[in-house]
Amino acid sequence: MRLVTKKAPRGRLFRELSAEEALAVGNVCGQGRVDSLAEKQMAEAVLRSMRDQDLWLACDCKGSVEERPLNTARNLDGSIFLVNFSGEHHSDCPLHRSKRDDDNTGPGGSRRNAGAMRIDFRSFLPRDDHGARISVPTNTDNQGTDKISRRRVPALARLLLSLIDAAELNRINPVSPQTKRTKNQALDAVKLVTEMEYFAQGRPLSEIIFFDPWLKQNRLDARMHELETDGKAWPAGRARTFYQILFSEQVTQEEVVFTNQYGPTVFRPEKRVSINGEIDGHREKYWVILMYQRNDTGTVVCRDAYAHALYDYACPVPVDSNLERATIVSIITAGKWLQSSGYEIALNKPLFDIKVTVDREEGFVLPDFMLTVTHPGRMRTTELVIETMGYTNDDYVERKANQHEGMSTLGRLLKDPPYWPEPAAKSDAFARYLYGRITHL
Ligand SMILES: [Zn+2]
Repeated sequence: MRLVTKKAPRGRLFRELSAEEALAVGNVCGQGRVDSLAEKQMAEAVLRSMRDQDLWLACDCKGSVEERPLNTARNLDGSIFLVNFSGEHHSDCPLHRSKRDDDNTGPGGSRRNAGAMRIDFRSFLPRDDHGARISVPTNTDNQGTDKISRRRVPALARLLLSLIDAAELNRINPVSPQTKRTKNQALDAVKLVTEMEYFAQGRPLSEIIFFDPWLKQNRLDARMHELETDGKAWPAGRARTFYQILFSEQVTQEEVVFTNQYGPTVFRPEKRVSINGEIDGHREKYWVILMYQRNDTGTVVCRDAYAHALYDYACPVPVDSNLERATIVSIITAGKWLQSSGYEIALNKPLFDIKVTVDREEGFVLPDFMLTVTHPGRMRTTELVIETMGYTNDDYVERKANQHEGMSTLGRLLKDPPYWPEPAAKSDAFARYLYGRITHL
């Protein structure tokens, strides 16, 4: 057993436990057995040092480095516990029965409730807050009580992601040779979805979702006026709303800048801009959705906006971080190498929670990427789950790793960097690792 650092750099060997210490930790934290006070104190000292110095305990009971179980020290109401949050200990390991990180979680570390769900195109319009109309009771979005659910995804975000998902723009199939799109082709794919999906009887989404963000105020007014007076069915109790979808390279919490050949258009939504997983836009290239409504004084305004970083305009797959972008680069590189050996790789970035069953219980997981590998000869396919692990937030990484058992039911799970928590030795380490693993499947 060894102590490794949580950060700067993650996974570095801090020190190896002595045989006495390993025995003490195994007895006290795993078997719940205290043979002597000295042994208890020795185990406590190890756990306290893990908290003081930001360390994880890596167990060597599994043969391979990738499967190495990781443990963290938690302080719960004044008692320190060793909690196994990643990988499972071997059944012969004294820590096999140590506490699993299963606070409020579903089987295999999954979430009990889905945090991110596809939107129902028939019932997503925001409620009318003006109170002038009688509203029909509908399903309210209950806040999940699930501790590890990521912050609940707002409806505006789910609308954008549902459209991207329906347009299959969260896929790269195959990753090599790549079908590159222009920005307009990507928007056209979303536009096609808005023509085929309906928000009310006889009313396609294309009547309220637009792709012309350069419109001036008088045209926005006219558009809202038409929605208010066209006499067509509008869902009861829902505010007259329309949307714009665009790409932007400049996003902050205050504003979104859209630039075309006629220059920049700046949007300053009343409710500010939500950006997926970050405070200020520093990932360039974003999908953006803007929401328009009348404000209290009757002016048509941009009320709300949501921005989600994308991999690249040629393949506008939504990404949650720059690390995920790097993982995609590695997958594409490996896909190129494998292509010459007759393999075909398809990448899917799941945008919504996936139901899994572990030990006959249901839960939800959201892997970073899923790959479908078609083997040479096209007679066989294999599913892989890819998790980008290089995050700097320890709690987040622990929660994520804890879900891996649930995710493994969807396919063989691989991590980037491959021997996480150790950092990758070279920049192409994950591409090489993926190549090696796939050719040996
Ligand atoms: Zn172990």
